[in-house]
Amino acid sequence: MSVWPKISDIVKSVSDGRVSATENVNKALKLIEEKNPEYSAVVSVIESRAIARAEEIDKRIAKGENVGRLAGVPFIVKDNYLSFDSETTASSNMLKGFRAPYQATAIEKLEAEGAILVAKANLDAFAHGTSTENSDLMVTKNPHDKERVPGGSSGGSAASVALDLVPFTLGSDTGGSIRQPAAFCGVVGVKPTYGLISRSGVVAMASSTDVLGPLTRNVDDAGLIIDVMSGVDPLDGTTIQGNSEGYSNLNASVKSKKVGVIKEWFGEGLDSGVAEKVKTAIKALEDAGAEVVEVSLPSLDLALAVYYVVVPAELSSNLSRHDGQRYQFSYEGAKDLDESYEQSRSIGFGPEAKRRIMIGTHVLSSGYYDAYYNKAQTVRTKLINEFNQAFSEVDIMVGPITPTTAFKIGELSDDPLQLYLQDIYTVSANLVGVPAISIPCGEIDGLPVGLQLLADQNNDRILLEAAKAYEEINS
Ligand code: GLN
Repeated sequence: MSVWPKISDIVKSVSDGRVSATENVNKALKLIEEKNPEYSAVVSVIESRAIARAEEIDKRIAKGENVGRLAGVPFIVKDNYLSFDSETTASSNMLKGFRAPYQATAIEKLEAEGAILVAKANLDAFAHGTSTENSDLMVTKNPHDKERVPGGSSGGSAASVALDLVPFTLGSDTGGSIRQPAAFCGVVGVKPTYGLISRSGVVAMASSTDVLGPLTRNVDDAGLIIDVMSGVDPLDGTTIQGNSEGYSNLNASVKSKKVGVIKEWFGEGLDSGVAEKVKTAIKALEDAGAEVVEVSLPSLDLALAVYYVVVPAELSSNLSRHDGQRYQFSYEGAKDLDESYEQSRSIGFGPEAKRRIMIGTHVLSSGYYDAYYNKAQTVRTKLINEFNQAFSEVDIMVGPITPTTAFKIGELSDDPLQLYLQDIYTVSANLVGVPAISIPCGEIDGLPVGLQLLADQNNDRILLEAAKAYEEINS
């Protein structure tokens, strides 16, 4: 049982004056203080601002004012979201100590509805990874087994929800970083349609696949948070309006929906226990009235290779701004500008960022651009066409999130390729831009397994309603 009611119930109790916003914030801060030392989910706490905001909300409630759809709900964001009164490190040595001059649009929108940011969560530095072991600050532990990773890169955000520190957290998903840790920690994680939520004020990884989204304990909570965060933002030209019905007040609906089981995702490499849990979940959807068919997307087998060309290319470009001159870390002893660039980047970036910058600049270099970057984009287009074709036949597609349950800390950290293989089922949704969700579908030896549902672009509401139907069957 969670110590936090459903978000809509928290808001009701705060608006009715039964529980104060200040009580909620103090509760969250106390839980963080008690539990965080053991799990290292949170990298910094925003105490005085959170308390001041809570007191302000309580005063306004006392005056009978409307304080919003998320009144008095404390939350935590991944530390790649720019936020006031705190550092924004992206868990990197490069940005350690960095204080942002403005706040992410997503946080602004939540705060405008009365939510209260209380802390920042750990991640793989610059969101590169699947375990939080690439964090330059600390390694987060999985709440289900402290010897195991929580997943990544939003590992701190997923662990914070699993530890019940707050009712919801935010992550970012460039290739699976919300869904994979959600699966490893047994919580709900949503990667919305590309462009549904403004990326303004979040440290960029790969601009054509970066998406923000919530991690929660249930689908309704996730829908409500997406509802508040979504929409056009003048600060992000890729944002879209989304569904006119919004994403809250969801019906549980999978009856007479056509659900396509992705054939390519049940082959070699998938743990048999995970496969069994996912298949049991699919059977449950069928029992609930979904029409289940098999779908095939032949280019899926190439998706990981495409991702690890396109994403390093984009991130090498985005990370070029960290040159030791404009942002936080700057090497002190340089004799000239060239040495300052070189030393600042050599010292400030960790091995994974360097690996990706080298791959990215290589595939973009004039002699190799056609062979790698252009070819990858061509295959990406093919993948998009295959998804369009599949979604002309089915409403939802389904498969696993991860090949295995959470692995041990240190088990794969020496082998980047093994870590990249963890992303095999998650990267396609990012390359194609479609929404996808991870929802718990059971446990193996006490470790959670995630079920992935995907929908066509802008069908986030259909996705959430199908997930809610599954949640109801499974509870
Ligand atoms: N694990 C993937 C990677 O390392 C995804 C990262 C992400 O979504 N931020 O690239």
